Amino acid sequence: MSSKQEELERPDTVAPEERTRGILFVVSSPSGGGKGTLIQRVLKQVLNLSYSVSYTTRAPRNGEVKGREYFFVTPEKFHAMVEAGEFLEWATVHGKLYGTSRHQVSREVFEGRDIILEVDVQGAASVRELVTDSVSIFILPPSVEILRQRLIDRGTDSPEELELRLRHAPAELKDYRAFDYVIINDQVERAAGQLSCIIEAERTRRARQEPQIKRVIESFS
Ligand code: 5GP
Repeated sequence: MSSKQEELERPDTVAPEERTRGILFVVSSPSGGGKGTLIQRVLKQVLNLSYSVSYTTRAPRNGEVKGREYFFVTPEKFHAMVEAGEFLEWATVHGKLYGTSRHQVSREVFEGRDIILEVDVQGAASVRELVTDSVSIFILPPSVEILRQRLIDRGTDSPEELELRLRHAPAELKDYRAFDYVIINDQVERAAGQLSCIIEAERTRRARQEPQIKRVIESFS
């Protein structure tokens, strides 16, 4: 077991047999794939679910709020956090640094809350390796034309940024086979419904509910 996984699996004050750890849901898609909108909907619909707020060195876009979309930090601060082991995973994406807070994820998981990590395909691969019972979901835009249009409509990227994001999309798409689930995001309502269903179905897996099941079964004897 790696030290990062030990850190995540460190026992807390609840007895291990009583504790139900939260589930890590890793969601990836190319930039403009619509995962942000989907996740916002699902967070409103599904109870006991939180969102991992990443750290990034990219500049805030119009309307983005520190601590809501991201924590915006300088490259120096980011590197210091890497050195201090504060990230569960981190990666360079479209030339900027992005990282998942180990502390936030550990806290949510140990308190029994499920958490969504919105990360790129490199981040998804790292989390999959570290947390073997995490669940990964790939959001596929329905076509390259729609992806381009979404990026244009979003209006947040410079023409160079937009081209960079489109250029990276084919390589990101190739990774879809590594994911447990794929949602084709052609209709936001349906896609959000599918994401909610995946979360609820994963929560219902027998292996994840053993302590609760045992309690119910014991009450019959
Ligand atoms: P954006 O700048 O459009 O918000 O995000 C660019 C890419 O970085 C997206 O694919 C997004 O999922 C990814 N990303 C956001 N936060 C993280 C993170 O903490 N780790 C990794 N590996 N990727 C991230």
